[in-house]
Amino acid sequence: MANFDRAFIDQVLSSTDIVDVIKEKVNLTKNGTNFKGLCPFHSEKTPSFNVSSSKQFYHCFGCGAHGDAIKFIQEHDNLTFIEALTKLAQAAGLELPEKTKKNDTYYNLFISNKLAAEFYSRSLENNSEAKTYLENRGIDQGMIETFHLGLSNNKWDDLTNLFSKEKIINNAIEAGLVIKSNNKTYDRFRNRIMFPIRNSTGNIIGFGARIYNSDDGAKYLNSPETKLFHKSYELYGLYECKKDIAKEKSVIIVEGYTDVIGLYKSDIKNCVATLGTAFTKFHFNKIKRYTNKIIFCFDGDAAGKSAAWKAITNCLPELKDEIQLYLIFLPEGCDPDSYVKDEKDNFDNLINNPMPLSEYIIEHLGTDIDIKTVEGKTSFALEAKKVLNQMPDIMYTDILREKIQQMTGNIILKKNQATHDKEKNTSSDTSQEFDIKELTLLNLLIEYPMLVKEFNCEHIITEKTLINIYNVIREEISKNENFTAAHLLKLFPNNEAVRSIVTFESNEKSEDSARVTIQEIFHQLELSSKEKVYFELLNRYTDGQSLSEKEREFIKNFKK
Ligand SMILES: [Zn+2]
Repeated sequence: MANFDRAFIDQVLSSTDIVDVIKEKVNLTKNGTNFKGLCPFHSEKTPSFNVSSSKQFYHCFGCGAHGDAIKFIQEHDNLTFIEALTKLAQAAGLELPEKTKKNDTYYNLFISNKLAAEFYSRSLENNSEAKTYLENRGIDQGMIETFHLGLSNNKWDDLTNLFSKEKIINNAIEAGLVIKSNNKTYDRFRNRIMFPIRNSTGNIIGFGARIYNSDDGAKYLNSPETKLFHKSYELYGLYECKKDIAKEKSVIIVEGYTDVIGLYKSDIKNCVATLGTAFTKFHFNKIKRYTNKIIFCFDGDAAGKSAAWKAITNCLPELKDEIQLYLIFLPEGCDPDSYVKDEKDNFDNLINNPMPLSEYIIEHLGTDIDIKTVEGKTSFALEAKKVLNQMPDIMYTDILREKIQQMTGNIILKKNQATHDKEKNTSSDTSQEFDIKELTLLNLLIEYPMLVKEFNCEHIITEKTLINIYNVIREEISKNENFTAAHLLKLFPNNEAVRSIVTFESNEKSEDSARVTIQEIFHQLELSSKEKVYFELLNRYTDGQSLSEKEREFIKNFKK
């Protein structure tokens, strides 16, 4: 997307009405100034999918899906950015600039992966040995199609020839499909079952590959990191399983792609797998958009236990009260794929009675500790404190702390207040809690861009993240008075603060009432910033520091 002509994108968006676009796919009813309907991205009975005509974006309060008209077409029709843009451009009678198309690296990489996947799929079709192997593992034609499985032949130049013929060999190299070394090019994947890895919109971003008829090389091989493919962000099976994750209101996290397929085959379709890495906070933040209930499934052996603790410690700082984490451990030596095949009832039982996170943390911390002794209580409390200190300031943390305190005879586990405050300040960038007045202010400025010139908010907004956003809004509106929330979302695609601003309901129906509200906010914020100065000066004064005449004047006048 980076190489796109922004002006062209703006032209397409301003020639398109998002309400018309979505109306074609979703039954919308008018709801005040907005439109409402059943969300096409998760299953629901009461509508939580909102489309704003004035802001030109959609937002689902159920699953968090949101974006502009291009994003909607991308997600709904499973298209790449450029495909969605082309579709809307055509509908609006606009011609896509040819150079835009050629210059888009992402588009080229998507297309290369698509081409390779189709090739691998045909190769599997024509190879009875590989098909028999999959059959013996319980992977039937239905699974092959659902997961788009394929085969890389036992050759060095299949893809190299294919891409050379199309004159796009460089794209194949950049996509990690073909390796170039010492001026020679050759296929990365040979003689392996191929598992295309799709992003949440269904575009192939990389491949997993597994040996099947020999012991040559690593058992599993993944695409290298590319512009599209980042292992610590992506989850295998998300695209295939996202509807069932929404339906089941939970997700099961496993460790391998064959596990996802095995569970899927056994009718457990709400699974995803990491791609040979630990479960990261990026995975956590991605998956929590789809469900509030996350169940980790690990092997019961030592490696599984240590992977579990690692995954949990990665998630702890990101916890939210509304998210529930659970764990299940399979009997030692079992992987989900084989266990679900042999002992489906036991597996179901585990899934239906998973271990809650709090219980797991306490059990893990208590390993090898005799909590009945004073020594045991102390070392337990010390370990517990370390864990609690990693957790955010939420109710869940308080309750867990309370519980651990009871176990240890009320040893106080509260965070050291000084470090606590420091952390709070430094983490303000990611904190979701912004001053409601500042959020309202920014929300109104986007809704009524003509007010931006009237109010200079530079010294009014105090939160650093919001100041940055304000500066961008001001600059963009000076260049383009049709700037909308959708534009802002595009400039800050994954920014919590921006999301809070645009989804904020200010309920101001006209420019005039918005102006009055902004004036009121100005008054209040000015007052509170003056108050801050007042108390700072007062502090300095009582500390025995001298104040300038101006400062003394300020104190004198403030209380009047
Ligand atoms: Zn939704």
